[in-house]
Amino acid sequence: MNTQASDANAAAEVLSEEAVDALSRAHSASPETGSHRHEALLSARAANIKQSAVRDVFDISMQPGLVSLAGGNPYLQSLPLERLAATAASIIADHGLEALQYGGGQGTLELRTQICEVMAAEGILDADPENVVITAGSQSAQDVAAKVFCDPGDVILLEDPTYVGALNTFEAFEVDVQAVAGDEHGIIPSALRERIADLQGQGRRIKLLYTIPNFNNPSGVMLAPERRQEIVDICRDANIMVLEDNPYGLLKFDGVLPAPLRAANPDDVLYLGSFSKIFAPGLRIGWALVPAHLKQRYYLASEAVTLCPPTFNQLLVSAYLRDYDWRGQIDTYRALYAERCAALLSALEEFMPAGVTWTRPEGGFFVWLTLPEGIDTYPLLHKGIDAGVVFIPGAAFSSHQRPSNKLRLAFSAVPPETLHEGVRRLAPVLAEAITVK
Ligand code: PMP
Repeated sequence: MNTQASDANAAAEVLSEEAVDALSRAHSASPETGSHRHEALLSARAANIKQSAVRDVFDISMQPGLVSLAGGNPYLQSLPLERLAATAASIIADHGLEALQYGGGQGTLELRTQICEVMAAEGILDADPENVVITAGSQSAQDVAAKVFCDPGDVILLEDPTYVGALNTFEAFEVDVQAVAGDEHGIIPSALRERIADLQGQGRRIKLLYTIPNFNNPSGVMLAPERRQEIVDICRDANIMVLEDNPYGLLKFDGVLPAPLRAANPDDVLYLGSFSKIFAPGLRIGWALVPAHLKQRYYLASEAVTLCPPTFNQLLVSAYLRDYDWRGQIDTYRALYAERCAALLSALEEFMPAGVTWTRPEGGFFVWLTLPEGIDTYPLLHKGIDAGVVFIPGAAFSSHQRPSNKLRLAFSAVPPETLHEGVRRLAPVLAEAITVK
């Protein structure tokens, strides 16, 4: 925290050519082709795997002096690190032969049972540990879902904007991702109905609706509670599985949580959860709660990728859930992120020029800015870096390659005074873009 605060006061560093190159590659988004004799051996699938703009910017944002509003890292400094170190040591000392050995492909029963308690805290009260599959983060759970459901050319419906990692995963399976219209309350049910009718009318096979109902990454939008059941009903009627990705759900600032789509719909929603935002992303422990009739297929596909989720990490998460006040830690995170979000919003009020609007999230890590039509935020990234601030241009979060007048700011890892400084640096860059337009 101190480092970041002092970084905010340091002069912006000039970026290396290499870093600028990395950003250019991110924009063109496709790896170079035809440059070596093994090119002809590569799968069509591999060509579809794009370089993530977020990853490139993440590397650049590590440079000292820059205020990074780019990476959505959780703030781990409030974890009890010394106590966790002792717990990790005792897991090796007392259970080393289990911790360092292969485990069951579905994950340990103890952790699967505890995961059901975590989901109960969110409003899923009937989860059976039998139907939980532990995965290497929810990223890998998305990958397994796409693998289990999608053939090349199948359609996945999703929000626009949506999580860049999901776009990368789905495109790697040669899926046709199609956006459904939404507003500040999330997916619009009537738009979903029309989109489905249109695509199915063309004979397209729609397999999944991928949705982040709570504090969408990047937009911060929460799907209105009164829309939730209707959205599941529309999908059920059209025989489309809902893939609910909910890593931020417990991080609603006021702690009053809307029921997940999965809560009342055990057969029609495949639910993905994660310890990345409520505990520690480096452990790479996420999970899928799979409809009972699909569990075996999902589990086998997951096992085919990883054999088993990491045993030591599962034991550490289990010890954390058993012996620590994990609910209290989530309360701490809610207060911390609420404070940061408020600081970012008030800095936006203070500094942003006319013509810029933004979302006001009730939880999660992100605020989404919209500039006037016709402005492309990608070139502004370089200007922002020159001014000492990094953000993610909106184009990273859409499947289409069109320029975007949006951008994402992440407040999770940045203390309030640094958020203020970052927005102060960003404002003239946006103001100039609006003036020259
Ligand atoms: N879904 C969303 C919406 C995310 O924002 C992220 C990570 N930023 C993930 C999934 C992947 O998380 P995990 O660390 O559990 O793989």
